[in-house]
Amino acid sequence: MSSTAIPGTALPSAATTSTVVDNIGVLLTHDSEKPELANAAIVFENGRVAWWGASADSPSADLRVDAHGGCVLPGFVDSHSHLVFAGDRSDEFESRMAGRRYEAGGIRRTVALSREASDEELLANASALIVEMRRQGTTTVEIKSGYGLSVHDEARMLRLASTLTSETTFLGAHVVPAEFVDDRAAYVRLVMGEMLDACAPHSRWIDVFCDDGAFTEEETRAIIGAGQARGLGARMHGAQLGESGAVQLAVELGAASVDHCTYLSDVDVDALAGSSTVAGLLPGVEFSTKHPFVDARRLLDAGVTVALASDCNPGSSFTSSIPFCIALAVREMGMTTLEAVAAATLGGARSLRLADVGHLRVGARANAQILDAPNYRHLAYRPGVPLVTTVFLDGVLDVVKHPH
Ligand SMILES: [Zn+2]
Repeated sequence: MSSTAIPGTALPSAATTSTVVDNIGVLLTHDSEKPELANAAIVFENGRVAWWGASADSPSADLRVDAHGGCVLPGFVDSHSHLVFAGDRSDEFESRMAGRRYEAGGIRRTVALSREASDEELLANASALIVEMRRQGTTTVEIKSGYGLSVHDEARMLRLASTLTSETTFLGAHVVPAEFVDDRAAYVRLVMGEMLDACAPHSRWIDVFCDDGAFTEEETRAIIGAGQARGLGARMHGAQLGESGAVQLAVELGAASVDHCTYLSDVDVDALAGSSTVAGLLPGVEFSTKHPFVDARRLLDAGVTVALASDCNPGSSFTSSIPFCIALAVREMGMTTLEAVAAATLGGARSLRLADVGHLRVGARANAQILDAPNYRHLAYRPGVPLVTTVFLDGVLDVVKHPH
């Protein structure tokens, strides 16, 4: 399955051109034998990585791009976002910063505004966020529904999301909408039945927010099972608001990822370590809700595969910036910069079960970025600084700024 097909400013087709990027300070490929190389070059051909090695040995190509000593690394794979919505919740952010607790119920505010918004408005908002992401090095993005919560609006939002990415996720089980608070069983039946029927054609994944104030483990099991029976892969939101059985349930259900993992027991960590379920860490949420940052060191030392994602959404994490998440992971979560970058590239690809993105081995999709910095450590060392000068999407130059 191919990954993100994001529309944007595209130069002539990659199929007819080859590009060599040379004069690279540090090239990070995640190749198993030589994961990084100094003074390097890389060649993209027909949208794929065709060669990499010493800059002095680089072959000629149709187009040459001088990295000016900058770092080249894989484009980020953002495995968790909620980009289809309308409205602004900056007032909630401000009151949380003043001490109010985050509650899942704030989602209903965005639901009300998103239902009223036109397709054009929702798509314009999501597309603008994709451009923001791209300028910060993201080349693959997963997008969830979850602000429609009716058959019509969930299907509408997934249809819009599927024009932006192939990694679409049906999240009808985000919260119980206001009109069903007195009969949540009826809402669960709707999600598993008519809503799933309408949404499955536009979705690759199904997700459930399994937490206090959202869905119980029993409801989650039923909804995920219904989605899997329709051929959708499983993902979960779990352990965001407190310890629960959500993480172990995700492992038991064979979910590709369980995201948040803010509150983990030792049993949860052991369950993840013995599984193929990826722990998706979303430090923008901890930043924006004042919950404690995840101790990623504990997960990495136990052998858990970790992904780092933005969770870009208007309530609990309104950042589109993976570099910001990397800086938080290094400052607050016990990760080295290389581990954080790997989690935002290879880890994201593992979370989405994509084999040809998140690295720059020969044969990978030519999704890459050039930094105006000599190495990837600057992503954490220079927080908040726009370092990405160039992004390649399937070998095609997509975003270019001029380094000073
Ligand atoms: Zn989320």
